[in-house]
Amino acid sequence: MTERLDYFDAYQQRFDARVVAIEERNGAPAVILDRTCFYPTSGGQLHDTGFLDGVAVNDVVVEQGVIMHLLTAPPPFSPGAAVAGVIDWSRRYDHMQQHSGQHLLSQLIYQRFGFETVSVHFGREESTLDLDVAALPASFMQEVELAANELAYYALDIRAYFIDDAAVSLLPLRRPPAVSGQIRIVEIDGFDYSACGGTHVHTTAEIAPIKLVRQERRRNQTRLTFLCGLRAFRDYADKARSLAECAALFSADAAAVPALVQKMQLQLRELEKSNTELQQQMLAHIVADLIERAPRVDGVAVVEHCSASAPLETLKQMATLLRAQPQVVGLLASTAGDKVNVVFCRSDDASIHVGDLLREALAHFGGRGGGRPEYAQGGGAPVDAAADVLAYARQQLIQKH
Ligand SMILES: [Zn+2]
Repeated sequence: MTERLDYFDAYQQRFDARVVAIEERNGAPAVILDRTCFYPTSGGQLHDTGFLDGVAVNDVVVEQGVIMHLLTAPPPFSPGAAVAGVIDWSRRYDHMQQHSGQHLLSQLIYQRFGFETVSVHFGREESTLDLDVAALPASFMQEVELAANELAYYALDIRAYFIDDAAVSLLPLRRPPAVSGQIRIVEIDGFDYSACGGTHVHTTAEIAPIKLVRQERRRNQTRLTFLCGLRAFRDYADKARSLAECAALFSADAAAVPALVQKMQLQLRELEKSNTELQQQMLAHIVADLIERAPRVDGVAVVEHCSASAPLETLKQMATLLRAQPQVVGLLASTAGDKVNVVFCRSDDASIHVGDLLREALAHFGGRGGGRPEYAQGGGAPVDAAADVLAYARQQLIQKH
């Protein structure tokens, strides 16, 4: 068993210890000390990082009470040596704020709503707690967030101590302890008693601000994501900055941004609608003009049009307009986006099979495609051959008549 200094003083950052053994875990040197401040990943809380005699510790695990410090490089010391350890305090203190915040939130939610916390997870960016309820009341998020922050400012003492099984039964624990014998209790001054091996702040004042980020339903439970302390502050700062940037774009107050965005969305939708209408009108004019100027083959207008900018969708729209007119064959191509799109079409009263015509013409230039007698599309020909594909198709069409 490794002596756990963190159990008695979560604020201790430096310590001296003796090396008991050096093993290997996950391909890394795993140092066992007689005592340590390093918290191992356990109870939902992430491990500490830091240094042992200047060598970085990037993972800490516990095996039957023995703490393993996983190093990033071979240790410059041997078993029996005295070493100095130091933990990354900002990382540890962040974990303490999140973990103490979870105890406070779980008890507060239980007292106000009767929902129990069934599991917790402390992540690098966000932490979550799962409640034994499928849906939360509408007022839940706002109410809990406000009450949690108010409670935090009472600066209630948070203490950790060991008691035995018999004494545990006298405490109003939210959940029964997972271990027996000597049990470590983390108490928020008469408010919450939890059997917990984690590291905690001295008073609830160090947890604030507390922010409930979101809720998600997970089967018959609800997952609550929260941020405490500096994490919540940073989140607030980031969000405030984003909102201020948005407000500056509108030259408005931050509070006016949602209504302005909504108004802009409506305007955009109207503009898109009128733009579509205008485009259709314009296409109708272009198509009418193309038909008028098109050469006739046996009374059929052969419209040939190659565009450098029209997307495939526009070619399709043009085909629809062409097909609506009598006695028309449309040979359309586009080289937009350095890609050849070819669409052939004809009116129902014209007799040519444009599917065959398109397949043949594209194949001649290394492309491919095909379709029905009255409509076909394809591509794959070199961009600089697009106009030639159409000319070739026109020649074929003339020859066949
Ligand atoms: Zn805990």
